[in-house]
Amino acid sequence: MSTQTLPASSPSSAKSLNTRAYAAQTATSSLAPHAITRRDPKPTDVVIDILYCGVCHSDLHQVRDEWHNTIYPVVPGHEIAGRVVKVGKDVTKFKEGDLAAAGCMVDSCRSCENCLRGLEQYCVKFPILTYNGEDKHLGGVTYGGYSEGIVVDQAFVLKVSEKLSLAAVAPLLCAGITTYSPLRHWKVGPGQKVGIVGLGGLGHMGLKFAHALGAHVVLFTTSPGKAADAIRLGADEVVVSKDADEMKKHASSFDFILDAVSADHDINEYLSLLKLDGTLVLVGAPDKPLPVAAFNLILGRRRFAGSGIGGIRETQEMLDFCAEHNIVSDIELIGIQQINEAYDRLLKSDVKYRFVIDMASLKN
Ligand code: NAP
Ligand code: ZN
Ligand code: ZN
Repeated sequence: MSTQTLPASSPSSAKSLNTRAYAAQTATSSLAPHAITRRDPKPTDVVIDILYCGVCHSDLHQVRDEWHNTIYPVVPGHEIAGRVVKVGKDVTKFKEGDLAAAGCMVDSCRSCENCLRGLEQYCVKFPILTYNGEDKHLGGVTYGGYSEGIVVDQAFVLKVSEKLSLAAVAPLLCAGITTYSPLRHWKVGPGQKVGIVGLGGLGHMGLKFAHALGAHVVLFTTSPGKAADAIRLGADEVVVSKDADEMKKHASSFDFILDAVSADHDINEYLSLLKLDGTLVLVGAPDKPLPVAAFNLILGRRRFAGSGIGGIRETQEMLDFCAEHNIVSDIELIGIQQINEAYDRLLKSDVKYRFVIDMASLKN
């Protein structure tokens, strides 16, 4: 991407950091234009002009208060990619004009044992989320990337390669790291049979990473029409999960399964596909509890685990891995005015495979 000329109202040139955004005012209202304030940059802050923001299903869950903790108005967006327009005097990692990205967290306590291990996402005091988190600087809640700019401490800003399409990099900041982290933690690699459940934003990145790591990859989908894409994205086999006979053929055969489904579904169907000591990791976050039949764990000493995004160090590692292996997200670029329609399509599992908002649409 070439350095883009900033409009007069961008954070770099504005006297105050009044910022245009899109917000939902209640759990039932559509997203609509809304003005927010960003803090004046502190010495270690980076001001990012947001060029692209991915649309995660977590945005939809939170806009509609499906996790029962949304504070309104909510400005979603945690797959943020853009260009640095200003840095505080003590910033060493970035300079004006650099590409930069921010994901699901903008800060954490930085001193607990998990933060010190680079696992800020598991901060014992809970990380400061990019939106709907506690804003320690201005009070109230944090506002996310469906906006023209954001101010983030350099410790939570990621470096992005100029080699990749910036719009297609944006989803790596959540969909990418959320799938990369468990695949690495459970050491997925050659000789292993790995399942990915659900071909959406997370699922398609899971396919790409599991394939790049050398595993034999099987996609489970409820959408038969996605089979050809799944193969192109890295699957070796595709199973339509509604077909009981097809499912049965894979009984007790998987080393690892990553479940990236956004809605209620039967987890037992997948636990029974794990072989001895196999692991099923849940990254999908449906609002309702998922009942587990005891014998699906007992027989085969199977493990059922969860995983949340990834730490800052690992997120940078993932971005560097993507630059090295030429991996980006498959995206549908939209204007912010199409965001409500995009949410409706997400609910129908109809996205190929991540919506990304071209933030120029907000600035025009
Ligand atoms: P998405 O793009 O909407 O994809 C979800 C996929 O799940 C759909 O494409 C569909 O795949 C499948 N699906 C949907 N409804 C289903 C149903 N009723 N039964 C079975 N499968 C169904 O969502 P996403 O952005 O990838 O996010 C997926 C989930 O991960 C969300 O719950 C999100 O909140 C969560 N998440 C968690 C983390 C974390 O840190 N753990 C981070 C980001 C997101 P098929 O058409 O192939 O069946
Ligand atoms: Zn997300
Ligand atoms: Zn901490």
